[in-house]
Amino acid sequence: MLMLGGIFDLGRSVVGVSHHRCVCLAALLVVATFSGCGEQPVAAPKAAPEQDNSLEAEIAEMIGKLDEADQKLALEQKFCAVQIHERLGSMGVPAKLELDGQTVFLCCEGCEKSAKSDPEKTLARVAELKAANTTTN
Ligand SMILES: [Zn+2]
Repeated sequence: MLMLGGIFDLGRSVVGVSHHRCVCLAALLVVATFSGCGEQPVAAPKAAPEQDNSLEAEIAEMIGKLDEADQKLALEQKFCAVQIHERLGSMGVPAKLELDGQTVFLCCEGCEKSAKSDPEKTLARVAELKAANTTTN
């Protein structure tokens, strides 16, 4: 019983030592992490802007296929009335749609159904898009 207690005490002191070492190791790790900060790889250069230019060229070409009056409207709207992050002309000639007597443009014919399903929402989006476009210019 006495011996068992001694072993237990010994074990506790060993645990205590190893715990202390752990703290030291952790401190070392923190130092190592900090010193490693200077070795971060240099950020890779971003992709050449050529792709953007070709997209702009394609958009201009597609919008250019519309009637002159429609071109003006499409340029004012700039983005699809349904997929508002999709540029008009980025998916071919923009699809033209009449909603409540107003001409709206869509990035593709696939958006027509959604545009017609909620004309008010679509027209509100067009108004927003045009407002955003005119304030930034
Ligand atoms: Zn579309």
